[in-house]
Amino acid sequence: MRGRTKASYYEVAQLLATSAPPRLRGEIIRYYRTLLAHWGPQHWWPAQTRLEVIVGAYLTQNTNWSNVEKAIANLRRARVLTVSGLRSIPLRELATLVRPSGYFRQKARKLKTFIRFLDRNYAGSLDRMFVQPTDKLRVQLLELNGVGPETADSILLYAGNHPVFVVDAYTRRIFERHQIIPAKSKYEEMRSLVERALKTSPDSLRVELSAPDSSHHSPRHPVSPMSRMARSELAQHYNEIHALIVRAGNEFCRATPRCEECPLRELLPKRTG
Ligand code: SF4
Repeated sequence: MRGRTKASYYEVAQLLATSAPPRLRGEIIRYYRTLLAHWGPQHWWPAQTRLEVIVGAYLTQNTNWSNVEKAIANLRRARVLTVSGLRSIPLRELATLVRPSGYFRQKARKLKTFIRFLDRNYAGSLDRMFVQPTDKLRVQLLELNGVGPETADSILLYAGNHPVFVVDAYTRRIFERHQIIPAKSKYEEMRSLVERALKTSPDSLRVELSAPDSSHHSPRHPVSPMSRMARSELAQHYNEIHALIVRAGNEFCRATPRCEECPLRELLPKRTG
């Protein structure tokens, strides 16, 4: 049995009602600073446009990113990676183009649903959609078929630069393995935990980055028009911490964890007894 006490779990349960306890807040910041110092900025999301981010957020459901890239490349080649392109392409053709991402008929339908939503509510304009208050837009997105919290928050953060943290399966796995959260914590609890932790003084989040070297201190993706878009400092931290967690999960925190090589190994709770 690892060392953290039930008191930690109680603290997490209180998060939605109160602010994050200082110790837990400090812990999240330590994870962020450790990953950032190790890998540096990740330049997520690798996309040319906001619509490409949105399409990617749908297509990445239940598949890996390399399959999404193939589907996106098909859409780009067919010149339909625009609102008007997705509006006018027949559903069956769209499904064929997104086939590499799996569940392609469902995903094509979901993309069509999003375009209909955009047309009905915002006259087909992403500008009009993204100037909405975060909470209002989040509720609207969550009402769409095929949009769960992770997809909604990915769209809000990475396409719209709204300050929300995206929780994914790696976040849950790492936080559970490190006993930061109890098993089966709700998405909103984890989102709230990280968002509150990073709403802190900017100085405590700053990390001195050493010169990149070829071994590990490098982004997973090259800088893209979307990764270098102007955004608030807070949105940038949420952007970065999610990308870093995904990388830690993807490279080390797999079904069988590779803790010896992982930058978070020093933060594993100590065994007692
Ligand atoms: S692989 Fe890394 S993140 Fe996962 S449990 Fe081990 S040290 Fe923690």
